[in-house]
Amino acid sequence: MRFDLVSIFPQFFDVLDLSLMGKAKESGALTIAVHDLRDWTEDRHRTVDDTPYGGGAGMVMRADIWGKAIDDIVADSGCRVLAVPTPSGKPLTQEDVRKLARADQIMVACGRYEGIDQRVVDHYRSAGDLDVFEYSIGDYVLNGGEVAGLVLVESIARLLDGFMGNPESLTEESFEGNVVEYPTYTRPAQWRGLDVPEVLQGGNHAAIDAWRRAKSLERTARVRPDLIRQTDPQSLSNADREVLARYGWLAARDASQWDHVTVRPATLNDVEGIAHVAAVTFPDACPPEVTVEAQREHIENNLSEGVIASWINSSRHRVMVADFHGQIAAYTMVELFEPGEGPDDVPHDIIEPAPTYFSKIYTLPQWRGSGLSGAIFEAAIDDARPHAFGTQMVLGTNAGNKRARKFYTRHGWQTIGRRTFMVAGIENEDVVMVRDL
Ligand code: SAM
Repeated sequence: MRFDLVSIFPQFFDVLDLSLMGKAKESGALTIAVHDLRDWTEDRHRTVDDTPYGGGAGMVMRADIWGKAIDDIVADSGCRVLAVPTPSGKPLTQEDVRKLARADQIMVACGRYEGIDQRVVDHYRSAGDLDVFEYSIGDYVLNGGEVAGLVLVESIARLLDGFMGNPESLTEESFEGNVVEYPTYTRPAQWRGLDVPEVLQGGNHAAIDAWRRAKSLERTARVRPDLIRQTDPQSLSNADREVLARYGWLAARDASQWDHVTVRPATLNDVEGIAHVAAVTFPDACPPEVTVEAQREHIENNLSEGVIASWINSSRHRVMVADFHGQIAAYTMVELFEPGEGPDDVPHDIIEPAPTYFSKIYTLPQWRGSGLSGAIFEAAIDDARPHAFGTQMVLGTNAGNKRARKFYTRHGWQTIGRRTFMVAGIENEDVVMVRDL
């Protein structure tokens, strides 16, 4: 690969002799030809600029000088791509860099002062012999195009075959797949009171991959929402969508557009919405032998607006909601138990003292498969953590409900036993699952 870098400060590019770039030059994988634009001037002062037409501050680089330089370099090298750094260009992306890396040769025209006379770009673009690519390296203004030229050279060179010692490090980097990279750590494991996340210190590679993917999505959602917006929800796994839903990005199972959701603690204003979700969803979670009449009785007695308001008012219950444009789309309820207490129907000898009981998680049917349940589930666990009396969470789920058990297992829960309980006079059996808080 060859770069022709044209500038009035050719010394700027001396740094390309360092490190991996220097090695690539030595090995011949990379050829860097640096040209002083002033070599194409004809006056004693080697002038490359003049005052702007129309007035205004600063100087503009002359089209005639640039034209001669570009023509000569093209004639000598056969270069077909002209890259022009400018704050008014297209923001340079990894995708652009990947495309440019397919070229054999690239010339970079580094402007100074107020930039290069517009006719240079217009001429070479319309002549059609060169692909002209105007690019910006960010929304700020530099003194000249040399740094932006270096950015282009380095970002392209590291994609070339054999440039990186370990080519795998390229595939895991930021912007591969529209996400920024997960946080990275090395020894020491403890530093200034900060520990390396436990999962990275164990050897469970599936857990490490899942953790990294979640962190990468979390970071992207926080700092680069524009990248999430460009991502088709259909291209993401359910686990990915669960992470994103926590950060407000929600799309129904089959939708290709994102919508917004807020997962937050419930207030008394949410009581009616929660009661609606409870009434709609409770029958789905019932074992088949529970009659419609018995279901209705259970909803009236245990899931009424009054009962829901009492949870929200109590310091021993934590209620979370997923608020979709003012409508409640899902809710959770967690009960906090002090030492010596526990949920009535869970045998106390199989769980630790002072359990935090994950009593309810319900999502409206239209949001199933969207990641919302996983998002509110993890949010509810995080919400309960600082209020819990013990360190273990407990839940019971219908023994026959495989989908629910798979969901809990994926979220780190383990089955430890069984319990029986009554719904409207009928005895039911659940499996009991636990997870560390
Ligand atoms: N008057 C120009 C404007 O406001 O857009 C700024 C010119 S700047 C002072 C001089 C040169 O620096 C530009 O011609 C360009 O080569 C380079 N430059 C400055 N900021 C840049 C950026 N964000 N991305 C790429 N090149 C930049």
